[in-house]
Amino acid sequence: MSVETQKQTLGFQTEVKQLLHLMIHSLYSNKEIFLRELISNASDAADKLRFEALAKPELLEGGAELKIRVSFDKDARTVTLEDNGIGMSRDEVITHLGTIAKSGTADFLKNLSGDQKKDSHLIGQFGVGFYSAFIVADQVDVYTRRAGLPASEGVHWSSKGEGEFEVANIDKPERGTRIVLHLKSGEEEFADGWRLRNVIKKYSDHIALPIELPKEHLGEEKDKPAEPEWETVNRASALWTRPRSEIKDEEYQEFYKHVSHDFDNPLSWSHNKVEGKLEYTSLLYVPGRAPFDLYHREAPRGLKLYVQRVFIMDQADEFLPLYLRFVKGVIDSNDLSLNVSREILQKDPVIDSMKSALTKRVLDMLEKLAKDKPEDYKTFWKAFGQVLKEGPAEDFTNREKIAGLLRFASTSDAGGEQSVSLADYVGRMKEGQDKLYYLTGESYAQVRNSPHLEVFRKKGIEVLLLTDRIDEWLMSYLTEFDGKQFVDVARGDLDLGKLDTEEDKKAQEEIAKAKEGLVERLKAVLGEQVAEVRVSHRLTDSPAILAIGEQDLGLQMRQILEASGQKVPESKPIFEINPQHPLIEKLDAEQDEDRFGDLSHILFDQAALAAGDSLKDPAAYVQRLNKLLVEMSA
Ligand code: ADP
Ligand code: MG
Repeated sequence: MSVETQKQTLGFQTEVKQLLHLMIHSLYSNKEIFLRELISNASDAADKLRFEALAKPELLEGGAELKIRVSFDKDARTVTLEDNGIGMSRDEVITHLGTIAKSGTADFLKNLSGDQKKDSHLIGQFGVGFYSAFIVADQVDVYTRRAGLPASEGVHWSSKGEGEFEVANIDKPERGTRIVLHLKSGEEEFADGWRLRNVIKKYSDHIALPIELPKEHLGEEKDKPAEPEWETVNRASALWTRPRSEIKDEEYQEFYKHVSHDFDNPLSWSHNKVEGKLEYTSLLYVPGRAPFDLYHREAPRGLKLYVQRVFIMDQADEFLPLYLRFVKGVIDSNDLSLNVSREILQKDPVIDSMKSALTKRVLDMLEKLAKDKPEDYKTFWKAFGQVLKEGPAEDFTNREKIAGLLRFASTSDAGGEQSVSLADYVGRMKEGQDKLYYLTGESYAQVRNSPHLEVFRKKGIEVLLLTDRIDEWLMSYLTEFDGKQFVDVARGDLDLGKLDTEEDKKAQEEIAKAKEGLVERLKAVLGEQVAEVRVSHRLTDSPAILAIGEQDLGLQMRQILEASGQKVPESKPIFEINPQHPLIEKLDAEQDEDRFGDLSHILFDQAALAAGDSLKDPAAYVQRLNKLLVEMSA
C-alpha cells in the first residue's frame, strides 16, 4: 500500500452510531444484503460518472468501460468490491461515509423502541446503504479517488464501525472506489466464489453494468494463472429496456429495492413502453410502506430520470403530481436532450403530457390493485391514503378517479377501519337516497357517538365518518361522486329529501309551529352566541345539537387555521332542539326565567361539548350545572 499522508481520526455523527448499532443487531438474519447495497452504490457511481462525462468527457480518463469487480481472499478473510465509477474526494468521503444526510433521521431514530423485532422492521423504512457492510465486517477499508482529480488525491477511509473512522490521503492511479471488507469471524462463508455468485444473481442481476467475479479454477493450485480471469455473472442490461414477458417478479422486486433504497418488496408495479409522438419507457412502483420522511418537505421524491439509457438525475419530481409522491421508479426518455436540467424540465411542454400519462398509469395501477388484491390495497391505504387525499384538490381532471380510490370509515363498519369505498357506499344506498352523507370530526370514537347520526341510525342510512386532519379540506374539493352530491350531516338545515315521507315532513312543520314560543325564548337567552335557534329533525335521543352554517368553516378547519396562527372568521352555530326530549319539554314548561336561562345555557354548552368543541366559559357551565344539582337534591 502506498504512503498515507494527512491522516485524521474523526467521529461518526451520533445518528450513524445509532444506525450502525441497530443495523448490526437487527439484520443478522438477512446479512447477505450488504452485497446488494454496495453493488447498488457502485452502480450509482457509474451512473453519476456517465452523466458528468456528458459535459466533461475527460473524466472517463480513457476508460469508458464501466464495471464492478467482486473478489475474495479466503485466507485473509476479505471480500473486495471495486468500481471505476465517479469515486469520492476527501470531503465527500467524510460527509458521505461519516454522516447521514437525510433530514429527519434524528427524529426517526429517537422514536425507535429498542424492541429489536419491531425496530428491525422499521429500519427497512430507512434504507440501510453503505453501513450495512458492518453486518458482516469488523473492519471496512475504502480506497477511492474522484474522477478528474490527480492520482495523489486518492483517499483511504477505514473504520471498525465503532464510533470512529480514519481518513488519509493516498496515491490511487485508477479512478473509482475499492471497498475491502474484513469479515467477522463466523462470516467466512462470504469469502467464497459460489456464495458471492449466488448472492449477486439473487439481488443484483438487474444491475445494468457488468459485475465480474474471478473465474473458478478447478485444476491444481499451481495451474492457476497469476492474474485472475474475470467473468461477468449478471445479466448486465438495464432492466426496463427488456420485454415485460421476460422479466420475473423477483427481478422487478430487486430492481425496486435498488432504485427506491427500500428494504421490502413493492406492492405493485407498471412497466410500459410508449411509442409514437413521444417515446419513453416507464417503470413505476407502489411501495408497501411509507418512508419515515414522507411528510418532510425536503424529503427526496420523484423518479430516476434517464435519457436514452444515460442516467440524468435522481428525484425528478416533475413527472408526477405531489399527491403521488410515494411512487418510485424510472423513466427513460428518447425525446429529452442529454443536457436537460431541472429548469428545462419545469418549462418543457413535453413533460406536461408525460406527466398526465404517468399520473393516469399510477391511478390505473392503484385501481387494479384495489380490485385484484384488496389486502394489499389495505396496506397501501394505511401507508399512503392520507397523501392520496390531497389528490382532489391538486388534480381537478382526475378527481372522480381519485375519489374512487378513497376509503373511509362508516357507520356500517363498527371497527372504524377506513375500508369503505364510495362505490360500496353507493351500492348500499337506500331507496329514495340521492346524496352521500358524511360527518367529520376529531376521532372515530367522537364521531361514532355524535348526536348528528341519530336520525340516520333510525332510518338505517349509512354515513361516512371522516376523522383524518385533512378530511374537511378534502371535502371542500370533493363535491360529488357518481353524479351524487356529498352532504355534511352537521351542516345547514338537514334535508333528507325523499328519505323523509310526506307525513314526516308534515309532522315536522306542525311541531315547529307548536314550539315557536320556546324557540323565541331561547333566542332571547342565548342571544349573540347563536346564529339561529330551531326545531331539529336530526335527533331522536339527544335534547339538543349544534349545526354548522351552510357557508361556515367546520371545527377541524378552524382548529387547523388557528394552530397555524391565521385569523379565523367568526362563525356562530345553529342551535337545534329536540322537541320530543323530556328535558326540552321541561324547559318549555319552565316559568321561572332564571332557571330557564340556566338550563338553556347548560343545554347549549353540552351540545358544544358533544360536537367536540371547547367551552368559551367552562367555569360558568360548571356553576350552573352544580346549582341545578343542588336544587334537585334539595
Ligand atoms: P445512498 O445510496 O442511499 O445514498 P449509502 O449509504 O448507500 O446511501 O451511500 C452513501 C453515499 O456514499 C452515496 O450517496 C454516495 O455519495 C457515496 N458512495 C457510496 N459508495 C460509493 C461508491 N462506490 N462510489 C462513489 N460514492 C459512493
Ligand atoms: Mg446506497
